[in-house]
Amino acid sequence: MDADAGKRIITALGILESMSGFLVFLDRDGTIIDEADLLCDPKKLRLIHGAAEGIKLLNSKGVRVAIVTNQPVVARGLCSEDDVKAINSHLLRMLKKESAKIDAVYYCPHHPEKNHPEANDPKYRRECGCRKPKTGMLEEASRRFGIPSDKCFMIGDSTRDVQTARNFNCVSILVKTGYGGNDTKFDAKPDHVCKDLLEAAKLVVSLI
Ligand SMILES: [Zn+2]
Repeated sequence: MDADAGKRIITALGILESMSGFLVFLDRDGTIIDEADLLCDPKKLRLIHGAAEGIKLLNSKGVRVAIVTNQPVVARGLCSEDDVKAINSHLLRMLKKESAKIDAVYYCPHHPEKNHPEANDPKYRRECGCRKPKTGMLEEASRRFGIPSDKCFMIGDSTRDVQTARNFNCVSILVKTGYGGNDTKFDAKPDHVCKDLLEAAKLVVSLI
């Protein structure tokens, strides 16, 4: 192989490398918006200070941003999937007003607990592969954008999010908004702890 051919291959690899980019998974409640227990009403959405700015910073560096959120409110019969979609659309519009863009939204409407006094629609009352700390939603986003887990970050406010990142083998960043890691559900130590989403976004940008 001549030297020019070698250079061409290296350049092509470089282009492929830069195309693969980075992907940040964002938890929704307590990370982007105020934690409001079992949120079903779009009017109650409140952006956490600096959240839009943090997302905007990631956008400016070409980092893909995907929301991954557990919404057991659906399994509990407190709101429908359409309600969840309406809340998500409203959130995206609020962020857009601040020039912040989300590339994809994934939600898990399931809850595994059966024989619950609330709604027991078997469509939602079941084990699934998407409820965090399982990694179904992350895997789907990773596939969609062609970005492997070692180029991914998970930002969230609960030990469930930290455990999800562990299970997916990506970098975990715990934010001190929302539960701030005080939910004690999973014994998982984050790779980094940040004050809020803006600080976490700055950290991601410094690491890529
Ligand atoms: Zn699910």
